[in-house]
Amino acid sequence: MDRVAFVGAAHSVSLASRWAGNRAFSLRRGRHFTTLPSYRSTLTCSTASTHAAAEKPRKKKGKADPSPYSATVNLPQTAFEQRANATKREPQIQKFWEENAVYQRLSRENPGDTFVLHDGPPFANGPLHCGHALNKILKDFIIKHSLINGKKAVFVPGWDTHGLPIELKVLQGIKSKERKNLSTLGLRQKAREFANTTVANHITGMKRFGVWADWDNPYLTMNPEYEAAQIDVFGKMYEAGYVFRGKKPVHWSPSSRTALAEAELEYPEGHTSQSCYCAFTAVSAPADAPSFLREVVSSLGGLALSVWTTTPWTMPANRAVAVNNKLEYVLAKGLHPQLPELTVVIAKELLETASAKFGTSDIVQELGVLTGKDLLGVQYTHPLEDGLVCRVVEGGDYITTETGTGLVHTAPGHGQEDYQTGLREDLDLHSPVDDAGKFTEEAANGRFTGLPVLGDGNKAVLAELSERSVLLLEEAYAHKYPYDWRTKKPTIFRATEQWFISIEGFRESVLEAIENVNWYPASGIKRIRGMVETRGDWCISRQRSWGVPIPVFYDDETGESFMNQEIVNHVKEIVKEQGTDVWWELEADDLLPEAYRGRNLRKGRDTMDVWFDSGSSWAAVASARNELAYPADIYLEGSDQHRGWFQSSILTSVATKQQAPYKNVLTHGFVLDEKGVKMSKSIGNVVDPLSVINGGNNKKTDPAYGSDVLRLWVSSVDYSADIMIGPSILRQVADVYRKLRNTLRYMVGNIHDFVPAEHAVPYSELPTLDKYMLSRMMQLSEEVGQAYESFAFFKVYQALQRFAVVDLSNFYLDIAKDRLYIPEPNSFRRRSCQTVLAVLLENYSRALAPIVSHTAEDLWQSMPYVPTSTKAGVVDSKSVFDAGWFERRPEWINVDDSVMKNWEVVLDARDAVNKVLEAARVGKTLGASMEASVKIYAADPEDAQALQSLRNCSSDVDSLERAFIVSEVEVVSSPDEIATCAHSNVEQGEKTGERFRVGMNKSGAPKCERCWHYDMTVGDSHAHPVLCGRCTKAVVSMGMETAPVAAAV
Ligand SMILES: [Zn+2]
Repeated sequence: MDRVAFVGAAHSVSLASRWAGNRAFSLRRGRHFTTLPSYRSTLTCSTASTHAAAEKPRKKKGKADPSPYSATVNLPQTAFEQRANATKREPQIQKFWEENAVYQRLSRENPGDTFVLHDGPPFANGPLHCGHALNKILKDFIIKHSLINGKKAVFVPGWDTHGLPIELKVLQGIKSKERKNLSTLGLRQKAREFANTTVANHITGMKRFGVWADWDNPYLTMNPEYEAAQIDVFGKMYEAGYVFRGKKPVHWSPSSRTALAEAELEYPEGHTSQSCYCAFTAVSAPADAPSFLREVVSSLGGLALSVWTTTPWTMPANRAVAVNNKLEYVLAKGLHPQLPELTVVIAKELLETASAKFGTSDIVQELGVLTGKDLLGVQYTHPLEDGLVCRVVEGGDYITTETGTGLVHTAPGHGQEDYQTGLREDLDLHSPVDDAGKFTEEAANGRFTGLPVLGDGNKAVLAELSERSVLLLEEAYAHKYPYDWRTKKPTIFRATEQWFISIEGFRESVLEAIENVNWYPASGIKRIRGMVETRGDWCISRQRSWGVPIPVFYDDETGESFMNQEIVNHVKEIVKEQGTDVWWELEADDLLPEAYRGRNLRKGRDTMDVWFDSGSSWAAVASARNELAYPADIYLEGSDQHRGWFQSSILTSVATKQQAPYKNVLTHGFVLDEKGVKMSKSIGNVVDPLSVINGGNNKKTDPAYGSDVLRLWVSSVDYSADIMIGPSILRQVADVYRKLRNTLRYMVGNIHDFVPAEHAVPYSELPTLDKYMLSRMMQLSEEVGQAYESFAFFKVYQALQRFAVVDLSNFYLDIAKDRLYIPEPNSFRRRSCQTVLAVLLENYSRALAPIVSHTAEDLWQSMPYVPTSTKAGVVDSKSVFDAGWFERRPEWINVDDSVMKNWEVVLDARDAVNKVLEAARVGKTLGASMEASVKIYAADPEDAQALQSLRNCSSDVDSLERAFIVSEVEVVSSPDEIATCAHSNVEQGEKTGERFRVGMNKSGAPKCERCWHYDMTVGDSHAHPVLCGRCTKAVVSMGMETAPVAAAV
């Protein structure tokens, strides 16, 4: 109920002045918030109520005071404002945390164990987005929950500051003329400045999210000590024999002119390749081949091997045709309508598809069936290189009959499987394509030189294949194709000299280590296991400038690489002092240990893959800093990191330390707009987290919600899948927040004159309603505690919200109004309720603090007394984060069974009663619920007994009248007694039939002007003729011996 219903709107002015004069508040505020202004607040302090709609405020009648007794009603008072006013208030609270070094103090001085959440470094290449907000706020929930539970929880934020994304940003930002004159060191300087600026912006934003961290000492992958630690990891892996240099096909981005890792690729929808079917002319078959095969080869029409490819530009690099020994192949004459005499080899299962594609009208003549094995050793002429004869080789199970012909065009320089086959069959690793993705002179004797393979080069190859009558069919083919995730341009597979880490050497150990980690959600283990099982060697060299150099030297004459542990260590020590710029600043001899100088060695030019940078963070940060620990307790990132950071970290850690760098790994999904669409600037659906906090340009459509609403949103979603955010979702969350804040404000406002040490009622004396509520709070603590421990924050959110609405707002606080407002301030009824409210508030604030931290702190600072901490050795809880976790007392937990049962029955009966009251209100026969006189019949004897026990109880608090908020309740023994009531209803039980029958009449008693109850004692007092007995007692005890003037009139 709105308290206006009690006192009337005309009291606003006098109450506002009482508010400002709240001394207890200003003293306490003075202690902690010396810089804050004093607060005045609006007057409505309400809590959601099932009856609120019906209990409309009285209409103003001129300026007359509707109740002369209103000054005797105990009203809530608090500095905890109704509106969050977050843009102003949250920064003040953040300043309070900072000035009091709350995070630093707790993370160092807490009595519990160290808890390390090791931050996955985001790229420092753009503004903060909702993904950052989700990630950092989730981490903050975990850190704060650990801190409030007394652990030394530490969070050192990190940034990935090297690599192409930043290099590209810098290059895009300068003019082409300047770009040409830019030296490597100049570029690195600009890249460093760019990264530093981005990191500074990120820190400002993340602090505004309310995230706690060691912001003064973040880790940046470009810091010299980090770079040195990374080189150390590299050196150890080299020493262990896992690092090698080799010519291998790698994903190559012509647009970035560098090799790319798997994690740097994306596979956009809608890619189409120009695929082709070709026929390679067979020239001979081995002596042991089936005779009919040999005959066809030497026949007039001849034999052709049919192949299919989606990358015609790789044809010049063809070095073999591979078959699957287990498949069946046929020799089909007349398969192609234009070549009726030609016999083509094709997988039997694909014959029909191919003839349909070629448009074969005549019946294809099958000259024989053979296995792949029969075809081995058949020789054919190269389709583009005259005089070159290649052969059929054994491929493997990668050759299937899903598409193509079952015979695979094999170019070892341009494909992973082709490369493996080439190694086994000793094929030439031909790769006639340069860094820019253009054909070199080596391609088809120079006929395609300079043509880009993804453009004109591909067309030229197709044209020549057609000219030479090799081409059977050309068709567009839509499929997944790897693109460079930064330039959004297609990549190619190309053999180059690169540095690799051989995964094979320690793959089994990594798989074992994966088993010893807890993965949340559990499906994560499958993902990463599958990826590690199948991944090839890790190409770690990049042909870029902004990164950590691979500390290798080459013989200037032979080109042979030269590296050993001594050299790597020497470089590491120099880098530790001077950073990696030194690699470009100094001559090779100045970088080498003395013993190796003067040998004509030159420096390598490759930098390391940035995934090696971030993948070394366990060494550079977690195990390097005293306050941290290795392995870390938890890593928490987006689910794409199974193939990114989680994987690169476990690879480097297992290779050098034989264990995983983390004990637990938690993943979250991606943030989409509210329709479930990926956010993008071009669509215009990007939600900026800082605009959510501070408001957008149009404050009507994008109001300033503050960071607590953003945080509440993060807690409300099941982040294990992709999640959504947008204006209407934010409005809903803000609405939940507003209601929650009102409920908390109502509670804290009603304990303004309560100090537990002086006023608390001992547990044994509490009414059973209060015991029931304390027990419910203990149940909540169980539920919330478990949800936090398992990182299920949406369960925390649901449990807290349900408790605030169902247990507090709709029930306990609804009933409590009568206890809080009406009796004399120091009465048992009021103090017992305040005793419970204080416990509920303290514990609820604790549960809330990790999530809506600012609100919880604000509330804590608004408490009229300094609550005691539950943490060992801490007395004064200066901040809510000093408060420790839930206070749990055995008597609150082990409450008498009958108390719980009785109140559960009352709650069900209350629902039944409310339905009847509501019907009467709709029928306009009832105004306030207190006008009602209720009869209730319970069919189940146990229910009846539960109701009867409260009907007969001595405590006014526990009475059914108070529970139902009506003037009179009679528990009747027969349903017939309800028949005469004006309104009635039958409530069905869940399993049985009729459970309650409720009837209602308007009370015949007069109405008390102060408490609005209809009571036969109204008029009994000569001094206060308009008051009931209870109210008379209350006002007399407040010193009001006679009625105020207005009442006497
Ligand atoms: Zn009264």
